[in-house]
Amino acid sequence: MAKINQTNCDSGQHLIPIDEALKNLLSNAQPIAETEVLPLIEAQGRILAEDLTSIINVPPADNSAMDGYAIRSEDFSSAKETQLPISQRIPAGVMGTELERGTVARIFTGAPIPDGADAVVMQEVCTLIENDDANDDSNSNESIDNDIKITGPIPVGQNIRKAGEDIAIGDILLKAGTKLKPQDIGLIASVGIGEISVYKRLRVGVFFTGDELREPGETLEPGQIYNSNRHTLRGLLENLNCEVVDFGTIEDTLEATKTAMLKASESTDLVMTSGGVSVGEEDYVRIALEEIGQLNLWRINIKPGKPLAFGNIGGKPFLGMPGNPVSVLVTFCIFARPFILQKQGASETRANSFMVAADFEWLKAGKRHEYVRARVENNVIKLFPHQGSGVLTSTSWANGLAVIPEGVTVKRNDLVEFIPFSELSVV
Ligand code: AMP
Ligand code: MG
Repeated sequence: MAKINQTNCDSGQHLIPIDEALKNLLSNAQPIAETEVLPLIEAQGRILAEDLTSIINVPPADNSAMDGYAIRSEDFSSAKETQLPISQRIPAGVMGTELERGTVARIFTGAPIPDGADAVVMQEVCTLIENDDANDDSNSNESIDNDIKITGPIPVGQNIRKAGEDIAIGDILLKAGTKLKPQDIGLIASVGIGEISVYKRLRVGVFFTGDELREPGETLEPGQIYNSNRHTLRGLLENLNCEVVDFGTIEDTLEATKTAMLKASESTDLVMTSGGVSVGEEDYVRIALEEIGQLNLWRINIKPGKPLAFGNIGGKPFLGMPGNPVSVLVTFCIFARPFILQKQGASETRANSFMVAADFEWLKAGKRHEYVRARVENNVIKLFPHQGSGVLTSTSWANGLAVIPEGVTVKRNDLVEFIPFSELSVV
């Protein structure tokens, strides 16, 4: 990408750089202190509130990595074929007895290695010699008293999974602050822990401003639109495992805005709204915030989403999202998501991004740091043709955001930063 100029002004007014805004936001995101103990099965997606240490080895004992035969390697030390009898059969879940010298044990994947054995030979490279007097089981392959022919030498330890190879007693399994993925839950289960301490869910109060808004299912009068932000925002919050308290749509007056803000802040950990943060005469959210609380941040060098407002009401954080539907999604991804994760107690709040070749041109450098609705397909980035902040179809078409800093132009095949929606919990 070619850097042409740097500016953080828009319409002559100072805009707060994104990094500075994010730093300010995160420095005000004190993690909630309350924890609760949950059955492991209910803990997916929650944030672990304690370091978890294993009190067992996984696997608990040396065991076979293959279906085959447990042997003493000394019995097969030469580079020729040796024939020995099968003296016992050890399925998974059964403890065998000490392996007699000069014999082998039939063994199955996951079964404990018997004392005396020091290697397993996979059945595919063994030749079974069936003896006439061998017990005539329905599955003769598994009957003892047959012989086996194996070509040596067999290295000590072959096909043996050692006790504690995955997890040893005393290992820290997961640290406090981990957001629990299905495989983390499986890992905890594998050491037998059935209940864990997690941070309480964050209660987020939401309300929506705009006299023009109607709910899906209602009939639109001229000039009205449907309240899509309510549905997008609630989904985004639920993806982050928040408990949403919805205070509905409120009328565009200063009094109604102040009343809703106070009410929402009383019973929640964070208040979020959409609309009413610009400079129009019908925009009361920022003014209300200044009157009954404190405004920390407003007007950020981001496109879309410039009017995002952040502050607090009675000590509770407040995030006023813009009204435009695409701005809601983008500002949620860039600001609200890390803020919420940190408040939830998560230790990792960043989203990974990747450099991907552009299958587009961006010839006119913008004045703001832009998050463009984009799609990576076949390892190149394509852009949605209509990037307006009201074009919600762009967000459904896209599978992530391409980042184009202010003052930058892009030529086809230039590498451009891309943040997949999967990294932004937008799934
Ligand atoms: P505002 O910041 O309130 O002026 O809103 C900016 C634009 O977003 C206007 O076109 C609004 O009609 C639109 N808008 C505001 N709130 C919503 C909402 N909840 N759902 C869909 N569009 C909205
Ligand atoms: Mg409005």
